[in-house]
Amino acid sequence: MTSVLSDNLTTSAWSLADLFPSHSGTEMESAFDEIEAQVTEFESLRAKLSPGLETETFLGMVKLLESIHRLAHKIYGFGGLAFAQNTQDQTAQNFVARVDQFVASMENRVLFFNLWWKDLDEANARRLMEASGPYHYWLEEIRHFKPHTLTELEEKIINIKNVTGSKAMLTLYDTLTNRYVFKLEEDGEVKELTRGELMVYARQHKPELRAQAYQELYRVYGNDSAILGQMYQTIVRDWRNEQVDLRKFSTPIAARNLTNDIPDDVVDTLLDVAQRNAGLFQRYFQLKARWLGMDRLRRYDVYAPIAQSNKAYDYDVAARMVLDSFNRFDPQIGALATRVFEDGHLDSQVRKGKRSGAFCWPVLPELTPWVLLNYQGRSDDVATMAHELGHAIHSMLASHHPLFAFHSSLPLAETASTFGEMMLVDRLLSEESDESVRRDLLFRQVDDAYGTIMRQSFFAIFERQAHQMVQEGASVDEVADAYMANLREQFGESVEISDEFRWEWISIPHIYQTPFYVYAYAFGQLLVFSLYQQYRAEGESFKPRYLKILSAGGSDSPEHILADAGIDIHSAEFWQGGFDVIRGLVEQLESIPVEK
Ligand SMILES: [Zn+2]
Repeated sequence: MTSVLSDNLTTSAWSLADLFPSHSGTEMESAFDEIEAQVTEFESLRAKLSPGLETETFLGMVKLLESIHRLAHKIYGFGGLAFAQNTQDQTAQNFVARVDQFVASMENRVLFFNLWWKDLDEANARRLMEASGPYHYWLEEIRHFKPHTLTELEEKIINIKNVTGSKAMLTLYDTLTNRYVFKLEEDGEVKELTRGELMVYARQHKPELRAQAYQELYRVYGNDSAILGQMYQTIVRDWRNEQVDLRKFSTPIAARNLTNDIPDDVVDTLLDVAQRNAGLFQRYFQLKARWLGMDRLRRYDVYAPIAQSNKAYDYDVAARMVLDSFNRFDPQIGALATRVFEDGHLDSQVRKGKRSGAFCWPVLPELTPWVLLNYQGRSDDVATMAHELGHAIHSMLASHHPLFAFHSSLPLAETASTFGEMMLVDRLLSEESDESVRRDLLFRQVDDAYGTIMRQSFFAIFERQAHQMVQEGASVDEVADAYMANLREQFGESVEISDEFRWEWISIPHIYQTPFYVYAYAFGQLLVFSLYQQYRAEGESFKPRYLKILSAGGSDSPEHILADAGIDIHSAEFWQGGFDVIRGLVEQLESIPVEK
């Protein structure tokens, strides 16, 4: 069999022909018409909804609803991908707006089914779920929220008041902070920068520029600390009033845990284990200080680069390296990743107007996912390629599920992507003879692990405390003091924390917009490290279990999917296994003699 991979690979754009030939024309218009027709048919079945509903009618409705979603995903996917390919194209822009509006109005018309299903009595819900095969978990998950759902009228009032309440508060936070202009002096010239541009200097070689960047960031946020802090208190009170007082969640974080379908005690265990391992990263920061020629790191230097090597990878070499590392793990995994190239679903070129960054978009279970990269040859770009192809592999392994059971839940969503990066790094480490390249790879891995695991865990620990403190009437300054204590616990003696960091928390949009979201990052990354540890220890016998986790997609809760693979997420030892991998990386770095 000839393969595109026998040619010399160059960066390319993707083809969307598997979705639609273009934004207009009969195929596209009939897809819109078909959705309308199916939604109308679905509405006509509303009268049949009753507790005694026959399973066949019920399943027919679920499948019709899924068919509507499938068509909508196809249109939505085409629109989103075409827009990413060229964000300046007006046809693409207008199409996205048209689809958004269309999908929102269709969603409102079918919403009654979801409300009815949540409201149905337990015995009949069980009866219908047991006959629903692959839709069981999807149906069960909707009903998890039954005890926390208010009457239709109350829900409506909350929705209406949120528009001018908590949602308006978040819009104000964005409007206010997105206007900020940051000043930074470099080579005698004062530059005016956005936050994104400013923070590039935090990863810069010059220590004084790193310090300047952080001082300016928190000078600007700190100027508005009274307002931003007050907004946070308001959002935290609103969260408590709604989630705990009205919806009867046991704690503020429990509302998020249910959305992730992660039991409360698992999150507590995860955060406890993270807290106990703070010393590991402190040890890493001490090591990093020696490499940077400093007695002690300042908080400004946490992301300082050690890297001296500027090794560049040709696209062809990089693609083969990534595919080869997947193949070595399992030929099936390698073949799936190759399909993304062969089907022309990969856009790797750098072009004007194209969306920056990288993503993987699985539109429908049976279609090869689309992957966007902006490949420029840095080692980061190679890692990103492995990461996004890992997402694609995850989707393709789960392609036998219907759409409603296909997407894995948030805490499992980064499993294959992070694992893919680990496979690549392992291959690079085993073959790279240049010591400086090896060292850069290891430092980058531990820097990333810090940012995803320790930093996010301590944010979540802070959020838990802040929600409690605000409830008890704490002032903005008291919350800032608690934040400083949190940083001191996280960094110990290993990092010097200057006083402006007391305003770091008011600069983190996540804790405003999606309270307690951040622990999912730590969950995902630690899970993968822990799995990788098992893979190293067990070799071949680990693989079927890993493939089973991925091929489960979103067909069950993370707890059950992992329990099936012999993993107990309730156990502290399991999470400690993830930290043991990081300790291994730190030890490898400690064994390299410091050059300076
Ligand atoms: Zn990802």
